[in-house]
Amino acid sequence: MAQLLRQLERICGDDHVVTHPHALRTYESDGLLQYHVTPRIAVLPGTADEVREVVVACHGAGVPWVARGAGSGLSGGALPVEEGVLIVLTRLHRLLEVDLANQRVVVEPGVTNVAVSHAVAPTHFFPPDPSSQIVCSIGGNVAENSGGAHCFKYGFTTNYVTGLEVVLPDGGVVELGGKAVDLPGYDLVGAFVGSEGTLGVATKIVLRVIPRPEAVRTLVAFFDHTSEAGQTVSDIVGAGLVPGALEMMGRLSIEAAEGAVHAGYPPDAGAALIVELDGSGAECDARFDEVVSLCEQGGATGVRIAADDAERELIWKARKAAFAAIGRISPPARGARADRRALA
Ligand SMILES: Cc1cc2nc3c(=O)[nH]c(=O)nc-3n(C[C@H](O)[C@H](O)[C@H](O)COP(=O)(O)OP(=O)(O)OC[C@H]3O[C@@H](n4cnc5c(N)ncnc54)[C@H](O)[C@@H]3O)c2cc1C
Repeated sequence: MAQLLRQLERICGDDHVVTHPHALRTYESDGLLQYHVTPRIAVLPGTADEVREVVVACHGAGVPWVARGAGSGLSGGALPVEEGVLIVLTRLHRLLEVDLANQRVVVEPGVTNVAVSHAVAPTHFFPPDPSSQIVCSIGGNVAENSGGAHCFKYGFTTNYVTGLEVVLPDGGVVELGGKAVDLPGYDLVGAFVGSEGTLGVATKIVLRVIPRPEAVRTLVAFFDHTSEAGQTVSDIVGAGLVPGALEMMGRLSIEAAEGAVHAGYPPDAGAALIVELDGSGAECDARFDEVVSLCEQGGATGVRIAADDAERELIWKARKAAFAAIGRISPPARGARADRRALA
C-alpha cells in the first residue's frame, strides 16, 4: 500500500491524495448514510489521463477501487471498499464542447447536472433533472441512469447519452458510441449507463440536449389526501395528457419544504400535485384548462397557477428542496449522535 500511495502522489500530486483519517471521513458515505466505510486512500485526479494512470496503479497493486462523483447517490454505489482506493472525480469539471447546431455537449464527468442546462440556456436544456441537480455530477447521473421531474415525458439519462470515453478496470481506454451513424452490434453505451460504476470510469461524456419548448404552464393543486392526488395523476394520464413534469408531495414533505423555502404551500395540505404542461403555446393553452378541471374533479381544495417564471420557480423550489428539507425534521443519524455526545 505504501508503494501505491507514492505512485498516486506522483500521478496526482500530494495535495490530491487524502490519507488523514479525519479528511477521509468526508468520503465514507454517499447519500445512503446508513452505511459508511473509510477508504484507505481517496485520490482526486485532475485529468482523464490521471484517472487512467490511477486505475493502472491500483490494478498493478491488486487494490480495489470505487469511483465517486458528488457522493449524492442513494444506492450506496460510491460506498468505498475498506482498504481500497476511492477515485473522486470532482476535479474533472470542464465543459469540453457546446455544439448547439448539432444539439450536442461534451463534458468531463465531474460537471454538475445543472451546469449543462445553464451552458445551453436559454435556447436549449438537458431534460434529466434529478432533485439533486445542483450538486450531482453527470458521471454519477450516467452510472445511476438518473431521472427527475421531466422524465415522464422526456425520458432518463440513458436517452441523452450518445457517447462515452471509459477507463476500464485494467486501465484500458475505450470509446463507446458517439458515431454519426447507427453501427450494428451491442448497445455498449446503453449497457454502461446505469451500471453503477461497475464497468469502469467514464472520463468523457457526450450528451444530447434539446430545444426549450415554446411555452410552459405550471400549477400546483392541493388535496386532503395523497390517494386523491394519486387518482388525479391517473386521470390526467388517462385523458391522454402528457405533462412535461408531474410530481406529488405528501404532508410530511410539504411541511419540511415549507419550513425551508416558504413557497406558500398550505401547511395543512395532505398532498400537493405539481403539473407542468409544455409545448407550443396553443397546445398548452388548450389543455391547461383540462388539467385544472381534472384537479378540481379529483377533490383539489385549491389550485395555484404560476403567474410568471418567478412563481413557477418558487413552486418547483418546494419540490426540489423536499428531500434535503426532510433532514430538518429527521432525528440525527447514529454517528452524528455519537459525535454530538463526544463534543458535549
Ligand atoms: C436530495 C437528493 C435528491 C435526489 N433526487 C434524485 C432524483 O430526483 N432522481 C434521481 O435519479 N436521483 C436522485 N438522487 C440520487 C443522486 O443524486 C443521483 O443518483 C445522482 O446521479 C448521483 O450523482 P453523484 O455525482 O452524486 O454520484 P455518486 O453518488 O458519487 O456516485 C453514484 C454512482 O456513480 C458511480 N460513478 C460516479 N462517477 C462515475 C464515473 N465518472 N464513471 C463511472 N461511475 C461513476 C459511483 O461509483 C456510484 O456507483 C437524489 C439524491 C439526493 C441526496
